[in-house]
Amino acid sequence: MHYGYFNGTITPADQIGVGVTDLGLLRGYGLFDYFLTYNGRPFQWDWYWQRFQNSAMRMHLPLPLGKEETYAVVMELIDQSGLPDVAVRFVLTGGYAPDSISVVRPNLLIITEDIHPVTHRQYEEGIKVILDEYVREMAEVKSTNYKRVILMADAIKAAGAQDLLYQKGGEISELSRSNFFIIKGERLITPNRHILHGITRRTVMQLAQDDFQVQERPVLLSELYDADEAFTTSSTKKVLPIVQIGDLTIGEGKPGPKAKYLLERFDDLAKNW
Ligand SMILES: *Cc1c(COP(=O)(O)O)cnc(C)c1O
Repeated sequence: MHYGYFNGTITPADQIGVGVTDLGLLRGYGLFDYFLTYNGRPFQWDWYWQRFQNSAMRMHLPLPLGKEETYAVVMELIDQSGLPDVAVRFVLTGGYAPDSISVVRPNLLIITEDIHPVTHRQYEEGIKVILDEYVREMAEVKSTNYKRVILMADAIKAAGAQDLLYQKGGEISELSRSNFFIIKGERLITPNRHILHGITRRTVMQLAQDDFQVQERPVLLSELYDADEAFTTSSTKKVLPIVQIGDLTIGEGKPGPKAKYLLERFDDLAKNW
């Protein structure tokens, strides 16, 4: 059973209720973070904490707990779940607003969830995405606003695709909830602007350092035509090959060896975490 922490109290997750004057509910004012555990330990904890703190700061929301206190809560929740590994979700909203607009004290929710891994088949076959002209507002904040992809769910399904690849004026940023990479020869290239700085992205760039020339820079749509491989990264997806972008087939239309190599490196790191 999953447990959760809400404003100082730990209870079974399904007993937590958030009040109706919460600014996340009323005004969409909220942010979150999400990570997995490996061997029962939070993966890349320092980096996720840093990002959560950064999102909170940019949204002008003071964090009710410090890093060590939060870690203790996380470990307690993992322990209570009784599961070997879980996903951990943090949600921080503007809190209860008596006047329905002002931030008084943020609400902090921390819950564990089941991990929903990507299927073996998706790694073997790769995924298809469709292009969408869109750029996320305050892209460096892990905002709870995923309006765009939810709105586009039917269009994604109709195209037989799995996700959106956001671009604006021909410059690619990221997928709806994961980052984007292309491989050209020995170059590993990933957009540097209008993105959420993914921890998996950061991990993969670090793992790739010895074998690739890593480039963090604007990536144009026109560069997709001669890309050998493309893939996306996130905590859940790890390193997931992209074989089709709209009408364009990437490389041979099947996952390539370099994305596979990076996934193996990632799995090695996680396995020994
Ligand atoms: C969470 C997220 C990512 C991926 O971040 P990870 O830390 O690797 O899970 C990328 N883009 C967006 C918009 C996200 O919300």
